[in-house]
Parts: sequence; structure tokens; C-alpha cells
Amino acid sequence: MSIEVFQFPCLQDNYGFLIHDPEKGLTATVDTPDVDAIMSALKKKNWLLTHILNTHHHWDHTGGNLELKRLTGCTIIGSGVDEDRIPGIDVRVYDGEETLFGENRIIIHETPGHTVGHIVFHFIDQNTGFVGDTLFSLGCGRLFEGTAEQMWNSLQKIMQWPDETLIYCAHEYTQANAEFALTIEPENKDLQQRNLDVNHLRKEGRATVPTTVGLEKKTNPFLRPDSVEIQTHLQMTGEPVEKVFARIRSLKDNF
Ligand code: ZN
Ligand code: FE
Repeated sequence: MSIEVFQFPCLQDNYGFLIHDPEKGLTATVDTPDVDAIMSALKKKNWLLTHILNTHHHWDHTGGNLELKRLTGCTIIGSGVDEDRIPGIDVRVYDGEETLFGENRIIIHETPGHTVGHIVFHFIDQNTGFVGDTLFSLGCGRLFEGTAEQMWNSLQKIMQWPDETLIYCAHEYTQANAEFALTIEPENKDLQQRNLDVNHLRKEGRATVPTTVGLEKKTNPFLRPDSVEIQTHLQMTGEPVEKVFARIRSLKDNF
């Protein structure tokens, strides 16, 4: 079983992703940030759109739903919990549910925090996750609707995936995130190295996405509220990790 992922930049700093199953001739777009960019990516790959996988309702994730559905007749899969805010939704999915893309198994996880209805798609046969605006490389989504505690629980679901899992997040925010991360855990050698790698990639105009679960666990401050260095630095030694997480999130909001 195989899927091919085609990634392309769109809007200011979003990524578009097409997921293609050559065996069944299926193609999904993860979210619909930009109809023109998605249509030209489809044309370039010579693929026909069959599905939209929506992570959450924000305009840069669902804005193209209705037009793409009109143009291609594709099926829209989104959170049942948030069905009223997912334009054109056809298939409602819920936490823990297994759904199929061709013969590829996808586990749905509800990850409230950035929005209450956010979901992520875990392609378990390919060790690949599409996480929208829940987890970013070296960052995590802003808490527009949910609480820090909800977001921490959501991130832990992703942290339980195997370390080698490829993580496709929806925005190229890594360079700015690295700058913040270094203020939270400056002595972290893996983070220092990642910062160098990221600056190098961006200088060459290349993407820092996808990342991996293992790399994020070693470098992303939002996944490291148990780090002794972070707790010491924030003068929160021995405090519950969810409190440390909330503190890191609020520091980032004001960074
Ligand atoms: Zn969003
Ligand atoms: Fe977004």
C-alpha cells in the first residue's frame, strides 16, 4: 500500500497537500486554502480530486470547499462535532474512528484547542499524519476556542504516534517558532541544531515541513513541558506539565 503526497505553498504561509492513492486512483486535498493553487497542483500531477479532508473550519482551511466540490464533485470529510462550520460536509467523522482512503486506514483524532472542532488524520499504514493547525514544527496552534488543557491533551494524542511518523502541518511558521523556542530552552542541543537546519532550508527557499514526531519531541517546547531546563527557566520546577504548557503558550502569545 502506498500513497504519494504532493506538497505546495499557497496563500501567505499555508501549505497545500494532495494525497494520491495510485491503486484506486483517488486524490484528496487536505483542506482547501486556495482553489487555484489546488487545481493547478492537480493538473500538474494529472490527478482528479475525489476527496477533501478538512482539519478545521477556519477560512484558510475550508474557504475553497464549495467551489472545489462544484468543480470536481468530490466528497468532503470533516468533523461531525463541527459539521455546521464545515461547508459542504458529506461524511462526518468522530474521535477514534477508523476510515478508509482506498485501502489505506486513517484514524481520526479530535484535537480541540485551536478550534473546538479540530481533527487530525493519521494514515497509520504509512506512518503519516496531517495535523492542520494543532501541531506546528517547533510550535502549536493558537488557542482561539479551546483551553490550554484541551490543547495539551490533543498534542499528547499526536505524541503517542511512532517517532518516525511524518507530520504535515498546515503552515510554514518554523523559523519564527525556532526563535521563540530558543528563548524557552536555549541549552537544548537538538533545538540549536534544528534552528541551524531550518535557517539553512529557508535561506534556500525550501520547506521545513514535513517534520517527524521524534524530532518535535526533542525540540518543540510545547511538547516538552516536562523538561528540567524549561521548568527551571520558567521557575516552575515540579509543577504539573499542563500548567507549564499553558505558561509556554501564553509566553508565545506575547512574544
Ligand atoms: Zn486555523
Ligand atoms: Fe491555518
